[in-house]
Amino acid sequence: MARPAVAEINLDNLRHNYQLANSLVGDAQVIAVVKANAYGHGAVAVSKALQDLAPAFAVACIEEALELRRGGITQPVLLLEGAFSEDEVIIASVENFWLMVDNHKQISMLQNVTLQQSVSVWIKVDTGMHRLGFQLDEVADVYGELQSLSAVNDDIVVASHFACADDVSNEMTQAQTECLRNTVKPLPNNESILLSLGNSAAILGWPEAQGDWVRPGIMLYGCSPFIHAHDEAKRLKPVMTLKSQVIAVRDVVAGEAVGYGATWTANRTSKIATVAIGYGDGYPRTVPSGTPVLVNGERCLLAGRVSMDMITVDVTDLEDVEIGDEVMLWGEGLPCEEIAGQVDTISYELLTRIPTRVSRMYFEEIEE
Ligand SMILES: *Cc1c(COP(=O)(O)O)cnc(C)c1O
Repeated sequence: MARPAVAEINLDNLRHNYQLANSLVGDAQVIAVVKANAYGHGAVAVSKALQDLAPAFAVACIEEALELRRGGITQPVLLLEGAFSEDEVIIASVENFWLMVDNHKQISMLQNVTLQQSVSVWIKVDTGMHRLGFQLDEVADVYGELQSLSAVNDDIVVASHFACADDVSNEMTQAQTECLRNTVKPLPNNESILLSLGNSAAILGWPEAQGDWVRPGIMLYGCSPFIHAHDEAKRLKPVMTLKSQVIAVRDVVAGEAVGYGATWTANRTSKIATVAIGYGDGYPRTVPSGTPVLVNGERCLLAGRVSMDMITVDVTDLEDVEIGDEVMLWGEGLPCEEIAGQVDTISYELLTRIPTRVSRMYFEEIEE
């Protein structure tokens, strides 16, 4: 029998979340962000499940884009950090990858290459995140320069990224949106220039801040991007369920400790279930005793430190617990966001850290 630590991936919920994004953004097109192995969900499987819906996909680098091509994905793939070399520009032109252009070195690459087929580019503008992109006063020149290059298609998109859209009380999102709109205004054909702004948080929380192309990532996977509870995020359905099984059950008496460092001590006679999942499976080592875990669907509490391959759970209050019983670490009824909050991080990090030894199992309703 296989090791029971598995990540079940519900492709119907994935499509539900994609459709939700679609329904919230009017006429804007929804590019599915599948970087970092689709936030740990499996880039090819996720893209295949969305390929009848999504007009394009977005990834962080060309290796990720090529993985989609090898997996049979035919849509354009946007490289969110653009090309890192002239070779990559050439590959992009052959493979129909779209290039973010965020610095002058990338412009030189486009000047230096001779392409059979021109590439589509997106100009990244720094509207306040101060991480990537051109300064506001450079945009007109950059736009003109790129437009003049034979290597570049006419349909240049102008994009920016939000710093604080996860906080609906923060005014920066509106300021960045206005900033981008004002920046393209003086450009010659500004009426026809397509803009790209919305990430998941903007799609769910900022109806005015989308542009013509939106770029949802985390919401496709059913996790809320917000720092506080948000009604719109309640419509998302979790895609990943991280599961394993009980592999041992024992009683400890009051005063006995459990696990490395003996950090958890029973204050009554307690039943401890050992579960086959640990930090080697992406379950964070730093979650404290008391973190919730579902055993046979019932909320129980972690007891003692997370090991590489195992955790220990206090199941004293459950009736019958046996080897082979099902344990859920996050998923429906126990949001990944809640576990992330226990270790002062975000669901994004937990999801992208699930290693390959956890097998992904894909589920969907059989279509007629
Ligand atoms: C990762 C990424 C996104 C997706 O962000 P989410 O918060 O996951 O929706 C969108 N745009 C860019 C540029 C990104 O790097």
